[in-house]
Amino acid sequence: MAMYGNVGDQPILILREGSSQTKGKDAQRSNMQAAQIIAEAVRSSLGPKGMDKMLVDGFGDVTITNDGAVILKEMDVQHPVGKMMVEVSKTQDDEVGDGTTSVVVLAGELLSKAQNLIDKDVHPTVIVDGYRRAAEKALELVDGMAIKTEATNKEMLKKVAMISQAGKLLRENAGFIADLAVNAVSQIAEKTTEGHKVDIDGVIDDIKVEKKAGGSLEETRLIQGVLLDKEVVHSGMPKRVENAKIALLNSALEIEKTEFDTKINIERPDQMKAFLDEEENLLRGMVDKISKVNANVLICQKGIDDVAQHFLAKKGILAVRRASEKDMEKLAKATGGKVVTSLDDLGSGDLGVAALVEEKKISDDKMLFIEGCKNPGALSILIRGGTERVVDEAERSIHDALCVVRDVIRDPRVVAGGGAVEVELASQLRRWSEQSSGKEQLAIQVFAESLEVIPLTLAENAGLDPIDILVELRARHQKGEKWAGVGVMEGEARDMTKLNVYEPLAVKQQILKSASEAASMILRIDDVIASGKSGAAPGGPPKMPGGEDSEGSSEFE
Ligand code: ADP
Ligand code: MG
Repeated sequence: MAMYGNVGDQPILILREGSSQTKGKDAQRSNMQAAQIIAEAVRSSLGPKGMDKMLVDGFGDVTITNDGAVILKEMDVQHPVGKMMVEVSKTQDDEVGDGTTSVVVLAGELLSKAQNLIDKDVHPTVIVDGYRRAAEKALELVDGMAIKTEATNKEMLKKVAMISQAGKLLRENAGFIADLAVNAVSQIAEKTTEGHKVDIDGVIDDIKVEKKAGGSLEETRLIQGVLLDKEVVHSGMPKRVENAKIALLNSALEIEKTEFDTKINIERPDQMKAFLDEEENLLRGMVDKISKVNANVLICQKGIDDVAQHFLAKKGILAVRRASEKDMEKLAKATGGKVVTSLDDLGSGDLGVAALVEEKKISDDKMLFIEGCKNPGALSILIRGGTERVVDEAERSIHDALCVVRDVIRDPRVVAGGGAVEVELASQLRRWSEQSSGKEQLAIQVFAESLEVIPLTLAENAGLDPIDILVELRARHQKGEKWAGVGVMEGEARDMTKLNVYEPLAVKQQILKSASEAASMILRIDDVIASGKSGAAPGGPPKMPGGEDSEGSSEFE
């Protein structure tokens, strides 16, 4: 556990439990090393030719992925500064959903180059100032070089979604996943412009993802509504209800044992019958309350007694039980219904509305499709694939694709990837640094050089000669070839716009912001002190910079 104090201008990192104090240059060096180790760990997975990582947890469960945020989340990082780096990647994921590897690689490079400067007796404060100015300028420059597009330009949205799939395990299915993501997010966006109130920021949250291993990935599909991994509880119930009026109930259709004395003395058979009759009447009464409001579908968060199921079936009501709280919330939002906690409160105004509720067979399982919901923004994705591992990775891939499409719809500007934007930024920053002088100029130039770690790493991971490529790229950019980058698949420097390698501007902006803020934060720590106190640090764990606001960063949890 670590906490941050502030002494004058220089924050100090306070370590708990056992670790002794490290001070000044030693502390700095050890922190920067920790950050670089994290960056090293994900570096080889950057880009379309990046390698995958096999993650094995304490139970021996295996995840194979190429996603920086996932790799870091699963890594057991102990060092407090290492944890800060993990946070950077998480912030990146929360804010824009892509660029999670790049941000860590860049932060690591900024720190590694800063270490060289410190070794040459440049004070960290000077580096921090230089980095800050350089990052501000870089953000201004990248804004200026961005390519404008339209939120409705599906061709561009698809290109961006395709690139977000580069390097993923399922890259062969990139086109399919990209189409799915573009369809899903544009549908919601169109509904927004049509005047329905659908929140584009909440899109990724609102799309309900269900996974079912079996079948092939191409069977993955978009469903206009909510999909529940539940089956109809009773064979006598309808499996298909049109013009559904849906009761959302958060209480059991069961007799709680406490409603009777725990011990019932039954001496005569007619007493037994009376007792059972009484129970039956209570359950019948419950079902009547549901049919009275004309509900024809019941989604129950709790259990439904066998006898109640029987009565529901007789009334022609389709029912499922033990839906999760999250599903109930989604259903309420999608169908315009209200989750009712007591049957006595259920009124016809609480019912949700959907054009069709139907149980369908998916592989060996049954699932409930609630389609044509009142809220047109309600969408689900049913992910299919050969094995659990495939559907899990497909979920991560689809998440990235949905995020980048959302990013571009929110801010329809893109830049060319493959390191092109980084080389161009570096070259413009170098030019701009002429206006400064001395050590600050040095820090700005080092910032510029750090940006080139992206094309260098892309080339390295593709088995190309990184230095040769970088030299060529610098020369081409000098000549005004703004979008020359690493043609990873082609094995040479290429104009990335011709290869359709586009990424959301938002992703690059967030990388620049988060990486430079994290590097500065780590650079400013010059004391690591083991704190004697135990228990939770006041104010909770440190929050990494980079988010526009604290609300935004919890958006996709
Ligand atoms: P991140 O987690 O940072 O998104 P990725 O492994 O997805 O990491 O790699 C992203 C990088 O790969 C970006 O710099 C992007 O421009 C680059 N990239 C993706 N596809 C290509 C391609 N076909 N050619 C060259 N570079 C590419
Ligand atoms: Mg990516």
